[in-house]
Amino acid sequence: MERPEAEAGEWFYHQRLADGLYLVRERYFESGNRANVWLVQGSERDVVVDAGLGLGSLPEYLQRAGLLGGTRTRLAVATHVHFDHAGGLRHFEPGEVAVHRAEAEALACGDDLEAVTWLGDGELRRRPPGSSVGWTARRYRLQAVTPGLLLEDGDLLELGDRQLRVLHTPGHSRGSVCLHEPGAGLLFTGDTLYDGALIDWLPHSHVAQYRRSCRRLLELLDQGQVHTVLPGHFNPFGPDTMRALALDYLSRAGVCHRITSSAISCLASIALRGRHWTR
Ligand SMILES: [Zn+2]
Ligand SMILES: [Zn+2]
Repeated sequence: MERPEAEAGEWFYHQRLADGLYLVRERYFESGNRANVWLVQGSERDVVVDAGLGLGSLPEYLQRAGLLGGTRTRLAVATHVHFDHAGGLRHFEPGEVAVHRAEAEALACGDDLEAVTWLGDGELRRRPPGSSVGWTARRYRLQAVTPGLLLEDGDLLELGDRQLRVLHTPGHSRGSVCLHEPGAGLLFTGDTLYDGALIDWLPHSHVAQYRRSCRRLLELLDQGQVHTVLPGHFNPFGPDTMRALALDYLSRAGVCHRITSSAISCLASIALRGRHWTR
């Protein structure tokens, strides 16, 4: 059955969580892969954390909603380059885009294998804005963007009256980062930690690194530096849930798990190559 045009409504919707903190989601993308987009407003610069699929223009939506603009500059940071987080970077100017150094080349090449690009028609309730009648989700791919800023562990992103610190937390992917706002105790975790099944079986996933990243996040928690976690999927949560999720991963990710994850990673890689080879 033909899906209706997206122009019937905005591709995105948003909600305000606190002063200068917004959650944006893609209204017509119904999937566990739908990533959260976070907007952090500063006095001089706004930071968008993750950018969605890119089927609609995120910066245009944010501007229409009055959330971006004025004299403030903007920076779009992808917590990693998987398609559900980094696809929307293409709507920003390259100079406004930041990713971890380890995944910059994958983004610059539009590498659908590293981006694990996998979108199904059944996940979209409407055709994307501006798409032709014959558009299918299998045609979707990551658009190449040469990032203007390469992130490293410990970098500080200045927003004026607030700062975000970059934590390199590989494991889910090799360039996964979390962003931490020390003053407010906010932690943007991307796919490193969310309240759902954590994924360490994709190309460039690494179980031992994931374990180290979880321990590092637990240290941050032990120092009392996390009050609210803003994850890459599903809903925000507090320190108790964060601790339980990290400890649960550490308890499960032993030697047997490592072997299973490597095997599934090989299969995932074959499936992705098959999908993008035949397109
Ligand atoms: Zn991911
Ligand atoms: Zn994700």
